[in-house]
Amino acid sequence: MKKWNLFLVFLISSVLLAACGAPQSSNQEAKTGNEKLHVVTTYSILYDIVKNVGGDRVEIHSLAPVGSNPHEYDPLPADVQKTTDADAVFYNGLNLEAGNSWFEKLMHTAGKSGQDAPVFRMSEGVAAKHLTTKGKESEEDPHAWLDVRNGIKYAENARDALIKVDPAHKDTYEQNAKAYIEKLRALHEEAVKQYNQIPREQRVLVTSEGAFKYFSEAYDFDAAYIWEINSENQGTPEQVSQVVDTIRAKKIPALFVETSIDPRSMEMVSRETGVPIVGKVFTDSLGKPGEDGDTYIKMMEWNIKTIYEGLTKK
Ligand SMILES: [Zn+2]
Repeated sequence: MKKWNLFLVFLISSVLLAACGAPQSSNQEAKTGNEKLHVVTTYSILYDIVKNVGGDRVEIHSLAPVGSNPHEYDPLPADVQKTTDADAVFYNGLNLEAGNSWFEKLMHTAGKSGQDAPVFRMSEGVAAKHLTTKGKESEEDPHAWLDVRNGIKYAENARDALIKVDPAHKDTYEQNAKAYIEKLRALHEEAVKQYNQIPREQRVLVTSEGAFKYFSEAYDFDAAYIWEINSENQGTPEQVSQVVDTIRAKKIPALFVETSIDPRSMEMVSRETGVPIVGKVFTDSLGKPGEDGDTYIKMMEWNIKTIYEGLTKK
């Protein structure tokens, strides 16, 4: 709370300084026909999906950096400025950007909390799944994108939003979306095919965060985890001992750890059970540019391969 107040003070002083100093940036001027749209996304996976649909028409600033956890984020002054200037803002919804209400506060500070503000929920139309932890059953689980069919929905929502904000380039967005969605359809089919090669009784995924509800339904897996969602207590002794019991009872042979999460809790589970961590999976973030999993398609391909190899290794 305190941190946020300090931040507001900083922000207000920056705005005052800017007002007394140089003229405002060109973002304030009316857009010419071919000027790029300034877009903000809350994390890297949305960045990539919007980039594929927007193509050359969009210049995107993504908030939570690659490798970080978008459940909780402290926006920097530059983030507030870019969000204020943005022609469109995309967020996941479904309780993702909810830690300390960071996104809601940012929209308010950036003057984008009004009804007509160009703020778009990528998960619009996705059938929400809910948490199962006692007392949290009314909260939505955000990780819809791990079912590629929902990724297709995200791409359609990005397309419709960009057309709304920039109708002059409707054809471009429609063509880009069509080509991208074709690739996503092929990716989903590939995922089904690959995962079906893993015997059903071996299809058990253990990760730190319980991010695989949508995934499990789509690809017929069971999932276990140390904690259900980031931004609550992570890796408490009770949580660790519960998952250790599950792993022993079900004789689960392999553990996975997410790239966007501190691996120490899973390492502790591995030591306690003697079950190895067989690979890293991407859940809440892409890989760094130029490295493994640096697009939505590549991160899902990486997950397919890693999970297949990890669960079928003798
Ligand atoms: Zn998550």
